[in-house]
Parts: sequence; C-alpha cells; structure tokens
Amino acid sequence: MIKVCKFGGTSMADGTMMKRVASIIHSDDARRYVVVSAPGKRYGGDVKITDLLYRCYDSVKENGTCGEAFEKIKERFRGIVAELGLSFDIESVLEETAREIEAEKSADFTASRGEYLSARVMAALLGFDFIDARDVVKFRPDGQLDDERTFYLTAAALKGKRYAVVSGFYGEDADGRVKTFSRGGSDVSGAIVARAVMADLYENWTDVSGFLACDPRIVDNPERIASMSYKELRELSYMGANVLHSESIFPVRAANIPICIKNTFRPTDEGTMILPISKYNYTGKIVTGIAGKKNFTVIFIEKSLMNAEIGFARKVLSVLEKYHVSFEHMPSGIDTMSFVIDSEELKNGVKEQLMEEIRREVSPDNLHAFDDVALIATVGHGMSKNVGTSAKLFDAIARAGINVRMIDQGSSELNIIVGVDNENCERAIRAIYEEFFKKDASFGL
Ligand code: ADP
Ligand code: ASP
Ligand code: MG
Repeated sequence: MIKVCKFGGTSMADGTMMKRVASIIHSDDARRYVVVSAPGKRYGGDVKITDLLYRCYDSVKENGTCGEAFEKIKERFRGIVAELGLSFDIESVLEETAREIEAEKSADFTASRGEYLSARVMAALLGFDFIDARDVVKFRPDGQLDDERTFYLTAAALKGKRYAVVSGFYGEDADGRVKTFSRGGSDVSGAIVARAVMADLYENWTDVSGFLACDPRIVDNPERIASMSYKELRELSYMGANVLHSESIFPVRAANIPICIKNTFRPTDEGTMILPISKYNYTGKIVTGIAGKKNFTVIFIEKSLMNAEIGFARKVLSVLEKYHVSFEHMPSGIDTMSFVIDSEELKNGVKEQLMEEIRREVSPDNLHAFDDVALIATVGHGMSKNVGTSAKLFDAIARAGINVRMIDQGSSELNIIVGVDNENCERAIRAIYEEFFKKDASFGL
C-alpha cells in the first residue's frame, strides 16, 4: 500500500504545524511520499511565504536585491528550524537562495523557493530523502506539463527510495529554467507523484475536514461532501472551490487513483473521497456542491435567422481566435449567442476591438457586453436523476431578489451555471445552498 500525501500551506505554516505533519506521516507506514507547499499563513493577516517571494522578485526587478521581504522569509525559516530543533544549516541555504534569486531574475524561480525550502526542512525533520521537483517535473516548449516524461522521471527518482519528500508547485521548462504551476499548484504536484508511483491513495491534507458543499467563507458550516466523482471535483474546483487545484485530477484520473481530502488539524475526521464515477456511490442527493467565481464578461450577440446563416459561429469564433481570447461558456438560442469570457482577457481595449470586429464580420442586430458577472455552478450527478432541479434553483434565486444574467445548462446534466452580478454572488450561493441542503434535503428520494 502506497499513500502519497500533500500538505498545504497552513499545514506547513510553522514548526508546530510541521511536527503535527510529521506525526501524521509517522502514524501510517503507507505514507511514504510527501509533497509539501511553502509555509502559508499562521493567522489571519499573516503573509504566505509565496507572496513574500513575489515581493522579493519585485524588489530584484527594481534594485537588483531581494530586499526587506527576504528578511521576513529568513526569520520565518530560522524560527521553524529552531522550533524543530534541527541541526540543518538553514543559514547557508538561505544565503545561497538569495544569491540565486538575484542572479536568476525570474518570477517563477523566486516563487518556487518557498516549496524548495520547506521540502528541504521537512525532509530533514522526517529523515526522508529530498527530491527537487526541478529534476523530475518537466514542461514542454508550449508550457504544458510533459506528463509521460514527468511520470517516468519521478518514478525513476523514487524507485528504491522507501520514503521521500518532493517539493510542490514547480518543475523545469524546456530551456532548463524553473517554471511554476498556477497558484495552489502543489495539489497538481501531489497528483503527479501519486500517478508516478501508482499510489493506492492520494491524500491531500489541508485546513478543512474535506470538500464542503460550498465555500465555508460564504456559508457558515456547510455540509461535508462524503464522496464525489472526479467530474464533480473538476467542475467545482474550476468554478472557484479552491480547496483543490482544478488541474489536480488529470494525473490521477487516468489511473483511477482516489483522492482523499483530510484535515491536518483533525486527522481522524473522515474527509472527502474523490473517486472515479464507476466507484461512486450515489447518495440520493440532488446537488453535490455549489461554487462561484467572479469577474466575467458576457458578450451577447443577436441576429435574426443567425441559425440559418452558414458560417456565422465560425466567423465569430475566428475573431476570438485572432485576439487570443478563450471563452468559458457559449450559451446560445435560435437567434442569439453569448460568450462568457474571463474579464482579464479583455483588458487594455481588447474588448472594444473585439466587438468592433464582430460587428464588421457578422453585422449583428444587437451586440452588448455585460461586465462584472459572477458565474455560479451548481453541480451534482443527482441533478440528471431528478425532475425540476432547475426550476427549484431559479426559484431560489428569484426569491432572493437576484436577477439572472445568463444560464448555461451543460449537456452533461452535471452542472447548471447561472450568471449574476458580482455583488450578488455570495447571496445567490447562500440561496441555492438553503434550497438544496437546508429546506428539502429529502427531495427526490
Ligand atoms: P492549502 O493551503 O492546504 O492548499 P487552500 O487554502 O488552498 O489550502 O484550500 C483550503 C481552503 O479552501 C479552505 O480553508 C476554504 O477556505 C477554501 N474553500 C473554498 N471552497 C471550499 C469548499 N467547497 N470546501 C472546502 N474548502 C473550501
Ligand atoms: N505556495 C503556492 C501558492 O501559494 C503553491 C501551493 O501552495 O499550492 O500558491
Ligand atoms: Mg491549496
């Protein structure tokens, strides 16, 4: 039995937390390969090491030195090593790290040093071998993970090692420079290691007792999801449930390796199991979870008889392609078509140019853009098994007095997406949660 365990930022926040992590690892001999994040926040208002490192990078750009922020990083790591009573020579490692950051002048290299340092410390604490992710996680020239090569190199590096700590969050690009995943990416690193060693389980240790039905910062004490499918996970994490990085399922899914979300503060709590659909146990719930994400723009195009106009969609899509703009959703009707786009992609005049070109290409009757739209995903395999789910959902939103700007019910019947104004995002999530989890939990049974 092999378990790969990834510990997030809160779990690595200080020496006391690291000791807790060590005792979790030592309590189960199957916990052989450990992936760690950089130390995160110790209390509200604290700054994550990764954020301090991005500040160092800004300072290096400005005046060539790591500056103030690196002093804070040194203090944190000195404190951790002292608290752990390790003989590990943290001073020389920190000095060398600062020199390398100043020489490399790369945001990714700088940000990666949090995971590098915490993995070195954790390996020393556990007495495990340290594996530098740079040597095993490789990206292709197009920036995508070179998965086969990565799995091969990781498996080769771990072969013959009973225990090891691997740094999370980064790897190396095709030019041999350090490259990070997007924020929260140590979850992906954990999944890579799990896949490489064909683990029986990928344990993802964090600061909540599992994947909850919605963000606990929005709803007080939401229900825990006991188990969910990879598909549900993908939909919810992509739509803002950032307890797990949305790309973490890809390495494990192909090998059917289950993921278990566990709480470092309460290790005996059950957590959430994420499983392939074939092993998924339908619990009778209509909705598994709800997640929301803000700051989208909806571009709405209307033209009578667009359905009969051959090549209409192609022309519009080629305009998006020309401006390198990708879209999240494309709800359409007989005479209407909308594109939901991350507003970040439309900054610096791109939106206006793009709309002008759409106007020229297809001469629509109406062309509008709505900004500040939040997307809310209500997700669950149970929705396809129950009649009237969307009616209940829209009713709940209407009763809360919230205007729906856009609807997209994916063809999978796994997901209903509604667009509301950013300012209504939290309220709409609460209304949907109330409807499906509080009011009538037995509906459909
Ligand atoms: P880590 O540092 O361990 O990777 P993260 O901060 O990335 O942890 O993720 C855990 C946090 O995700 C929780 O503290 C919680 O605030 C937030 N979160 C958002 N949505 C959910 C959800 N649906 N279930 C559980 N936690 C959620
Ligand atoms: N330390 C990185 C971040 O803060 C990666 C991670 O924690 O997963 O985003
Ligand atoms: Mg995380």
